[in-house]
Amino acid sequence: MSLDFGELTFSLTQTRSMYRARCELGGEWQPGELQPFQNLELSPAACVLNYGQGLFEGLKAYRANDGRILLFRPAMNAARLRNGCRRLSMPPVPEDIFLSAVHDVVSENADFIPPNNDGALYIRPLVFGSGAILGVAPAPEFTFLVFTSPVGPYFKGGLTPIRLLVTQDFHRAAPKGTGGVKAIGNYAPGMLASGHAKLKGYAEVVYLDAAEDRYIEEVGAANFFALFGDTLVTPALNGSILPGVTRDSVLQLAAERFGLQVEERDVSINEALGADELFCSGTAAVISPIGYISHEGEDHQFSGGEVGPRTRALYEALTAIQHGDAIDEFGWVVDV
Ligand SMILES: *Cc1c(COP(=O)(O)O)cnc(C)c1O
Repeated sequence: MSLDFGELTFSLTQTRSMYRARCELGGEWQPGELQPFQNLELSPAACVLNYGQGLFEGLKAYRANDGRILLFRPAMNAARLRNGCRRLSMPPVPEDIFLSAVHDVVSENADFIPPNNDGALYIRPLVFGSGAILGVAPAPEFTFLVFTSPVGPYFKGGLTPIRLLVTQDFHRAAPKGTGGVKAIGNYAPGMLASGHAKLKGYAEVVYLDAAEDRYIEEVGAANFFALFGDTLVTPALNGSILPGVTRDSVLQLAAERFGLQVEERDVSINEALGADELFCSGTAAVISPIGYISHEGEDHQFSGGEVGPRTRALYEALTAIQHGDAIDEFGWVVDV
């Protein structure tokens, strides 16, 4: 294998093997097996292709400096995947099958995990209706698949503040819809919104809520945080916001290690524009500082366009736990 770990970005590098399991409609998931990374064969009438019956997950395996391989809170991904399966009328994958699939794929592809500071092995579980069906109804057969790809650090030269655009043209998710699960159908519609923002030089869009067009929901596919003095605020999980593992971890760290007051509640765009620091969170970048937000044609700057001190401290504390460089008093890190 000739892989230059120093050159990795957040893009697909295929690895040796993937995990695959099947389940019939009305049946039970059977433990699957590892097989070489390969293309899939699907009927043109596969439910996932016609009706988007599918969801994904995302987590990372890190190589600690002492050589151990670490996963970060994989049981949370397992639980979120089960919730998503129920919302999309797919049989929930049991936690033990999910965790052993992740464990097996990571172990067999361990040589693709970059060294501690060069990135991570990104793990991508999928569940989808692989069986053929013509009418709109659950597939007769489902597939659970886990593949991996080594990825580089999101911010190569260290944390860099991003520029965001509040979109007035698009909503991400509606009340009582599927925004709270990683349904595959939620993501293609966002590509147009992100594409417009990127053409204008912004990294991503900020979505407002679909009911009132006032409250912040998310930043692209990342959760939003605003810091006012010693209070850290994030939009409450109302069904249309994706419950991020990173979001939950930031809230606990902020309260328990940094003594910040944390609030999960509605945050209007007008309130957020008065914050001391803003950032967003997700598995890919962990924490992204927000330097500027453009709203209704006006540019607003945060922390002088630099990385805010609280944002940096939270980023460093969380990544140190994930990489096995700091004490994990929360019991979040799991050895492979
Ligand atoms: C995956 C995702 C997140 C972040 O979740 P993490 O578990 O922290 O990676 C946030 N918002 C959306 C829409 C997502 O799909």
